[in-house]
Amino acid sequence: MEQTVLLKGGYVVLPEETFTASIRIKGEVIEAIGDLVPLVDEKVIDCEGCYFLPGGIETHTHLQLESMGTVTADDFATGTRAALAGGTTTVIDFATQFHGETMARGLERWHEKADGNCAIDYGFHMAMTEWNEHLKEEMGDVVRGGVTSFKMYMAYRNNMMVQEDEIYEALEESHRLGATIGFHCENGLLIDVLVRRERELGHLSPFYHQLTRPAELEEEAIVRLEAVNHLVHANHHVVHLSTAKGLAAIKRARERGNKIIVETCPQYLLLDGSRYGTPSDDNFESAKFIMSPPLRERRDQEALWQGLAAGDIQFVGTDHCSFNFKGQKEMGKDDFTKIPNGAPGIELRLHLLYTFGVARGRMDINRFSTITSTNAAKYFGLFPRKGILMNGSDADIVVFDPNVEWTVTSDLLHENCDYTPYEGFDLKGKVRDVFLRGRHKVASGKIVIEDVDGQYLRRDLPAMDIR
Ligand SMILES: [Zn+2]
Repeated sequence: MEQTVLLKGGYVVLPEETFTASIRIKGEVIEAIGDLVPLVDEKVIDCEGCYFLPGGIETHTHLQLESMGTVTADDFATGTRAALAGGTTTVIDFATQFHGETMARGLERWHEKADGNCAIDYGFHMAMTEWNEHLKEEMGDVVRGGVTSFKMYMAYRNNMMVQEDEIYEALEESHRLGATIGFHCENGLLIDVLVRRERELGHLSPFYHQLTRPAELEEEAIVRLEAVNHLVHANHHVVHLSTAKGLAAIKRARERGNKIIVETCPQYLLLDGSRYGTPSDDNFESAKFIMSPPLRERRDQEALWQGLAAGDIQFVGTDHCSFNFKGQKEMGKDDFTKIPNGAPGIELRLHLLYTFGVARGRMDINRFSTITSTNAAKYFGLFPRKGILMNGSDADIVVFDPNVEWTVTSDLLHENCDYTPYEGFDLKGKVRDVFLRGRHKVASGKIVIEDVDGQYLRRDLPAMDIR
């Protein structure tokens, strides 16, 4: 008989309730949850005082991505290892079709990067950097291959940006297939004008990044996207929502009948634009916070927290896109437009949301687990295999000790980056154990199994009944 493991006496967190119980793991799945008595010779792990959470699902990463003349500091090996340490057991990265390529080629390249290198299970979204008849024809094959979510950018002109006619046709085809598309919502044409203006004035320090990408450009792109979508009524979502104005536009579109799923990120909940310093500042450290969209204002953070708690925002990904300060961010020392855009965050997602969400009273533990795992599993076609503690589900389990207090320093993290934007943050609660399909890979907060046994996940079509 196959050996079982008993996780004894923790708080089982489900979307609507929490109760004290034990969990029995058999092989790769959860066999039972309840008041369980240890079997003869069964391995028992005492979990008293800890939460049992479904393994985190990270919806937004850029691992081993070539961008702005360099490549992200984290590849699939280091990025997924950091995710594992932080209680994330599934990651969905953006495979990218670059100009002139097929999506099949993009997927093939991402498999070359990821296969055999991941410490957790992984899947891909398919980012399309342009639109044409060939890509339209290819979408069906991509979906049938288990990649059921696409991405399009409304920013980055001449590189990835698509416009309304293209968005319309892509949504139409995605809708026909039952798939979904995530949109990067910023007005790329206006960004280019604003960047040109600042450059003409000799404004080249990191401070000016945020001025070239104001909140209105996110709001405007969302309004435009929703006007197009109102004609199609396709499944879609807004990635990395960063502003109160954007959220208000989403709520207005919902009142008109648009169904919109929304993702935000820890950086937009916890960091603000003061990190960019002042115009006269020549402290280049602020380059660590150069990302797109940029950090916003405190009132935006509050609106996003409220949106998460109220069900207006459905899940949290990190947009993990790490570049070292030394040697990479420094490429833009004399010109903020040459600073690689992005920051690390994959490891701290659960910790940050627990501390500032649950421990600060902004949401309960059930909502926390819903926005870090369950909703993403449903929307990205992994439920109920992932995203829930249930008999028969994969034994992707986090044992979370809510009583540990600790302070973030980048050398404590497994991310392959020489800084963290959350340096010095005081956190409450810590991931103690992590099981990936039944394998006890993190114990007492340490990675004890280094195997790159993460499996590629073919995903089902999205479920839209999440809030
Ligand atoms: Zn991104």
